[in-house]
Amino acid sequence: MELRTPVQYLKGIGPKRAEDLSTRSIITVEDLLYNLPYRYEDRSHFKQVKELRPGERTSILVEVLTSGLIITRKSRLRIFDLAARDASGLVRCKWFHSEYLDKKRIFHPGQKVIFFGKFEIDPYGTGNLQVINPEFEILDDESLQGGSLEMGRIVPVYEAIKGCSSRVLRRIMHHVLQELPPLPESLPEPVVSRLHLSDLRLAFQEAHFPPASVTMEELNAARSSGLRRLIFEEFFFLEVGMALKRRKQRSAPGIPFETGLHVREALKKILPFHPTAAQKRVLKEIVEDLCRPVPMNRLLQGDVGSGKTIVALEAATVAIENGCQAGFLAPTEILAEQHFFNTQRIFARTGYRVALLKSGLKKAERQELLERLASGGIQLLIGTHAVLEADVGFRKLGLVIIDEQHRFGVMQRLNMMKKGAWPHTLVMTATPIPRTLAMTLYGDLDVSVIDELPPCRIPIATRNLSETERLSAYQFIRDQVRQGRQAYVVCPLVEESEKMDLRAAQETYEQLSRKIFPDLRLGLLHGRLKSVEKEEVMARFAANELQILVATTVVEVGVDVPNASTMMIEHAERFGLAQLHQLRGRIGRGNSQSSCLLMHGKKLTDDAEARLQCLLETTNGFKIAEKDLEIRGPGEFFGTKQSGLPALRAANLIRDREVLELARGEALNYVEHPPSDREFQHLLEHLKSNWQRRYGLAAVG
Ligand code: ADP
Ligand code: MG
Repeated sequence: MELRTPVQYLKGIGPKRAEDLSTRSIITVEDLLYNLPYRYEDRSHFKQVKELRPGERTSILVEVLTSGLIITRKSRLRIFDLAARDASGLVRCKWFHSEYLDKKRIFHPGQKVIFFGKFEIDPYGTGNLQVINPEFEILDDESLQGGSLEMGRIVPVYEAIKGCSSRVLRRIMHHVLQELPPLPESLPEPVVSRLHLSDLRLAFQEAHFPPASVTMEELNAARSSGLRRLIFEEFFFLEVGMALKRRKQRSAPGIPFETGLHVREALKKILPFHPTAAQKRVLKEIVEDLCRPVPMNRLLQGDVGSGKTIVALEAATVAIENGCQAGFLAPTEILAEQHFFNTQRIFARTGYRVALLKSGLKKAERQELLERLASGGIQLLIGTHAVLEADVGFRKLGLVIIDEQHRFGVMQRLNMMKKGAWPHTLVMTATPIPRTLAMTLYGDLDVSVIDELPPCRIPIATRNLSETERLSAYQFIRDQVRQGRQAYVVCPLVEESEKMDLRAAQETYEQLSRKIFPDLRLGLLHGRLKSVEKEEVMARFAANELQILVATTVVEVGVDVPNASTMMIEHAERFGLAQLHQLRGRIGRGNSQSSCLLMHGKKLTDDAEARLQCLLETTNGFKIAEKDLEIRGPGEFFGTKQSGLPALRAANLIRDREVLELARGEALNYVEHPPSDREFQHLLEHLKSNWQRRYGLAAVG
């Protein structure tokens, strides 16, 4: 057996089970070993039922008394209900939507079972503790005996895979580890010995079956020596890959721009206001990059409303004055149109030729635009994903700007860059990313931060409202409109269905314009409208011809109408935190007090409540992002695929930040001072064959 042996050939795994495992991309022994426990359970000591505190997440060992399906009288809910006890007391377990428990007759009186979950006081007054949808593991005689894999020690708990319970996986893993021969060292020897890293085989052994010397605290924090080795290795190769990529980019020939008098004159012409100190600082950083003979790769980070657009247009001005073209990519049509509209105003005194490219243009119109672009007749092209199409070619693309970078993938950024010969690149995002994450996600980018809002912004007042307060919310909007202000009403997000989003928005629009605000002028904006229709609605709203804009989340990014000071968000509990922050960023842009009304349904999950609470407490994007990370975890936060976040197997970017820093330092050091050419080549081979595809480095390297 070796790491590449297909699991199918292992004892206890036939073709059927191999198929099940493959649904989780477990094909080889190595994949299996990297399927680490998602938690550990200390089965050398269980809490007694009477020791449990309400709200505690833990596991208990109890004996089943009775179980069966019950149907609630009022709402006809089908609940599988189980009563169990240990020597100290009684608990109830309840499962919703789990009729298989009944059908398959899983539980019997007298069984010994471990339940894991959050224990709460039973709301129906028995005073007993109950746990909803607990995880469970039924113990048989064999496992109850001491010295087994399942009892009397810290035990790994795996996420169940179709056809393989945690318990089955534990047995397979145990078998594999027994048969596994010593493994060759893949990390550089000096690094291993200096950092006292465990041997790889031992690391796997300890990560799956921790020895008695390891504590639960160490395991939960991923500090045990076994886990640490696996995490370090993963980060090390990731960072080596990043370093090589960066080196390649830094050695490419760029177009050094000049900033003579004419450039400074042009910059003066376009500024509609005094830039903030932060805007000045980041512009300086950008201009310094632009003047260097290597391509700029810079990320501009700034909270919603911090004024990134003007900085981008200043950079475009430098490019255009240097005889180059600039391309400006925005994730939605509404945003691209708005940038186009604003840019024409801002560039009015310069005479630059600006064009907008979006999908759905007439054939002749598009053709004419592409010709002007190819001949250099267009100096700044603003557009949506349509710009990425193969037949869109520039004469001399010198600067790529990507707005709301988190909406684009790594590949899209690279495709855009390929439309020129090593153009300078500026990507912008309002998603504040902790430093360690930025290093990993954007390891090839330098980072500039706008950490200041334009002057005279009044903090937005946010309120959390339930259904009973709806009428007063409407009254509030009416008062605002009477004072000449405008409002957004954002409609509920219906999961994964644009059609349903649309219907909800239409219904709300009709209800509001007929019954609630028949005397006011309302508009409806959603993703399915034709371009011209969207344009018209946005233009009328911007001109205050429409007083209330009912919209789906299409208004989320970039929309900028400073006179709109109220936002009512329906079913705010259905939105993500980052999204709510972006939405709320549409108001508070003028010089009057703005209000955000978060309407929410009756029953809120713990997470939803935490999200709404967080919005009440702060408008600071960094704090909100941190909370979001905490609630959701980094994978979801960045939408793994979209952001190009590598699929890590052992490591966790948030939990293991320190190891990441360490690995990064070691990786940089190694790449700069490899011990010998031969060893370096060897490491590169290993990187290529084992890690490149996994990290998406092949695509970008
Ligand atoms: P974001 O960083 O979210 O893209 P924008 O570039 O859209 O923010 O700017 C938000 C609003 O603030 C715009 O209306 C813009 O004109 C205005 N703005 C930006 N910088 C300043 C400034 N220095 N002084 C006054 N208003 C500014
Ligand atoms: Mg913006």
